[in-house]
Formats: sequence, C-alpha cells, structure tokens
Amino acid sequence: MIGSVPTDLWIGERQIPPRSGLRFDVIDPATGVPLAQVADAGPADAMCALDLADRVQPVWAATPARRRSEILCRAYELVRARAEQFASVITLEMGKPLTESREEVGYGAEFLRWFAEEAVRIGGRTATAPAGTGQILVTKEPVGPVLAITPWNFPLAMGTRKIAAALAAGCTILVKPAPETPLTMQLLGRVFADAGLPDGVLSILPTSSAAAVSEPLIRDARLRKLTFTGSTPVGKHLVKLSADRLLRTSMELGGNAPLLVFEDADIDTAVKEAVAAKFRNGGQACTAANRFYVAQRVFEEFVDGLVQRVSALRLGPGTDPATDIGPLISAEQVSAVGALVDDATARGACVRLGGTAPSREGFFFQPTVLEGVPRDARLLREEIFGPVAPVVAFADEDEAIAAANDTKYGLAAYVFSRDIQRVARVSGALKAGMVGVNRGIISDPAAPFGGVKESGYGREGGREGIDEYLDVKYIAL
Ligand code: NAD
Repeated sequence: MIGSVPTDLWIGERQIPPRSGLRFDVIDPATGVPLAQVADAGPADAMCALDLADRVQPVWAATPARRRSEILCRAYELVRARAEQFASVITLEMGKPLTESREEVGYGAEFLRWFAEEAVRIGGRTATAPAGTGQILVTKEPVGPVLAITPWNFPLAMGTRKIAAALAAGCTILVKPAPETPLTMQLLGRVFADAGLPDGVLSILPTSSAAAVSEPLIRDARLRKLTFTGSTPVGKHLVKLSADRLLRTSMELGGNAPLLVFEDADIDTAVKEAVAAKFRNGGQACTAANRFYVAQRVFEEFVDGLVQRVSALRLGPGTDPATDIGPLISAEQVSAVGALVDDATARGACVRLGGTAPSREGFFFQPTVLEGVPRDARLLREEIFGPVAPVVAFADEDEAIAAANDTKYGLAAYVFSRDIQRVARVSGALKAGMVGVNRGIISDPAAPFGGVKESGYGREGGREGIDEYLDVKYIAL
C-alpha cells in the first residue's frame, strides 16, 4: 500500500527529487517504526514551485470557472474511487482507526465537491452611487499564489478545505503538509495530476524544515496569501512574519472547547455525543471537547455514564478493525498528555478511568476520565490533544457560561439541554466560532469553520470559505 505512494516532490504535475537529495522518515505511530521515506524539500525547491505558481497564476485565473469546477469534480470522483487507498495511508501515518479514516476521506472529498459548486457562483454586486455620480461595480478576483500549511491530525481534510477553495477561486497554491503525515497529501497530488489540473497550479512540498521552506516564501512579494492550520504559537509567529509585507492570512488555530451539560439535558444523548466530541481521533482534534462542565444535579449520572462508555473503547493500532482509539501522533505527545494528567491529579483531581500510557510499542495513552478537577489545573487552560476528559461540576447557568468563556481560545463549544430558551441564551453567550447543540460532531463542508480570539480568524467551507482567496475590487463606472 505505502509502496504505491509517490515520494518525490510534486512541483506542478511532475514528481521531482529534492535538490538536496535528502529524504526523511515517516513514522507509524502504532509501532514507532519508519513506514516510508519522503523527499525533503528545501528553500530552493520552494522557490522553484513559487516561480511556477507565479507564472501560471494569470492563466489559471483566466481559466473559465466552469472548467475549474469540472477539474475539482473529477478530483472528487478520483478521491472517492481511491477511498480505500487514502484511508489506509491515513491510518498508517496518522494512527486513527480505519473507520475514522474512511470518514475523513468522505469529509475531505466533500470539500472538492462543495468548492466545485462554489467556483461557478463567485458573485459581485452593483449599486448606484447615492450622489448620482455613477455606478458602483464590485467584483471579486483571485488573490494570487497561496501557501497552505497544514497539520497532521486530518491529513486529507485539512488540505482539501484549503486547496479546493483556492483552486475554485482561481488561485495557484503551494502546500506544505505536516512532516508527520505527508503521504496522504502526496496521494492527493496524484489525484490532481490525473484530474487534469494544469501544470504548476498545485505543488506539494513535504519537508522536515518547515521554517526554512516557509519563511522565504512568506517574504517573497509574489506570494499573496498564507493559509495556516495548526497551533496558536506557530500561527502567531507566522502572522508576525507576514506582517512585514501585509500578506493576507487565514489562521485556523488551537482550541479549548467547553462542553456544557445542563440538568434538563437528555443525559444518554449527552454522554454518547460527549464521547464522540472527546475521543474521536484520540482527542487530537481542534474541535475536541477539552473541558466538561456538568450541572451538579446530573453530575454523578453523567460521569457514571461516561466512564461506562469510555471503558468499552478498545485501544489498539488503527489497522485492527476492533480498535476504537488509535495511538497518539508521537512519543512527545504521549509525554505531554501524561504531564497534563499528572498536574491535574497533583492538584487533587480524581482518576475515574485510565490516566497513564500503557506499556506497549507505539505512542498510546489510555482513554481517561478525571473528576473533581480543580479550576487551576493546566488541562482546563491548555489544549489537551489526547483522550482525556476532565469533568467539573457547576451550580448554575451563569457559572457554566463564565467557566466556558474563561479561556484565550474560542473555536468550538457544545451545549446539551432540552430547553430551547436556554439553548438560545447559552449559544449566544458562548465566545466561540462554532456551537454544537445536543451533538458532538459539528464539522460540515457547507458550514463556515473557524474561531474567534486566539483560535484564529478566517473561515473554511460554507459560502464564506472561498472569500478567503478572493480580493474585492470596486470599479467606479
Ligand atoms: P503545529 O503548529 O506544530 O504545526 C502545524 C503545521 O505548521 C505543520 O505543517 C508544521 O510543520 C508547520 N510549522 C511548524 N512550525 C513552523 C514554522 N516555524 N514555520 C512554518 N511552518 C511551521 O501544529 P500540529 O501539532 O501539526 O497540529 C495540531 C494543532 O493544530 C493543534 O493546536 C490544533 O488545535 C490545530 N488545529 C486547528 C484546526 C482548526 O481548524 N482550527 C484544525 C486542525 C488542527
């Protein structure tokens, strides 16, 4: 399976070895053993890709929207046709169970279809100048060559939701995938080559030196847009670099999602959805519920239900059909999650389930439930990115909202209640870009995905997603 993945750089539609001749290992997180070696792009390779992207930009921008749409449709069909190959590669390099990888392939492919539909609906507007001096014509134009930097946790979907929008808008794009999971993007490169995307419109630059490859691109006046998904510290660093040139940026950053369960919630639903919100992808999702706030009156019932469901989850390699939770991405991530749990227990939290890394090969951490977590515990403030559910009791709605909003992040939040008035009130009061009501999974290609506060700015998907790649022009007629 892995042997069929292209491992050179995609510079346009061609596979080209890196100038340095260097390659780096891609590690299987279920075993810690290298899976494959992939080309290690350097600054010279990045410049070569930008030269090409810049040259092709006007041609791609002038390509009829219908044609851009058709290429995206073909790419969608090809990803669907190759779904099993994509799913296997995602599981091998990222670790998630095969069933979740298949879901990611479906979700990731949908961005290609969604933006194929959006490509032909890029609108503008006209108005009459109030002073009667003429017509106001507003048009939208592709911003120009884009650099996309993506994380490892959804190696396909985090790529397609940028690439599809950029291509639909008429932008050329360079993609720098995460070094942990470059193989999925390499497969996507082949999809676009087979779908007839013109040479130079898309290049893919796996690298073990993210900064060395990205910084010269960001400083180059030909690059017109940076779209980043990853951690908040790296996002802030990239915004500072981009500020020198006032480069347009979109930032999809970290989260610290609160999940609120009120006494009027359907507790069975809340428990089931909480497990999905927390343990999907082993908790390695920016939208993962990070903190559970549960009304005092239903606290025991909720925690008992959670412990019961979570104790049934089977930990194992993603390739095993019996596995519910795969490994974490790296040994460092296992240590980081363990340190957060140790900090919470040292401050008085009680471990109801799990709490440690099992002794076995690979990068595993046991599904964990903590109760009685004190408010100063680090894992209530920081993104856990692991299968750990800290549960805290609250006395009333005001306290729950205040606790939920007491974070520098603002990506996702979840509310469980059967009282429609409360749902409206609480969803309105939560400082988050996205709110799930009585459900733990909210991502949808047709919805605008993104955050507020230090979770970033800009939106991906929905009607809004394509605007990140378009400049507005006003023509006075
Ligand atoms: P990360 O910030 O370490 O890395 C993300 C990407 O940035 C990788 O490709 C990495 O190689 C690159 N990178 C790192 N340093 C760089 C530098 N100096 N210059 C240029 N590129 C650099 O994040 P990660 O560990 O890969 O992903 C996990 C993080 O991503 C979490 O914080 C998670 O919440 C966030 N995330 C956010 C969203 C969202 O839509 N908001 C979605 C998925 C993941």
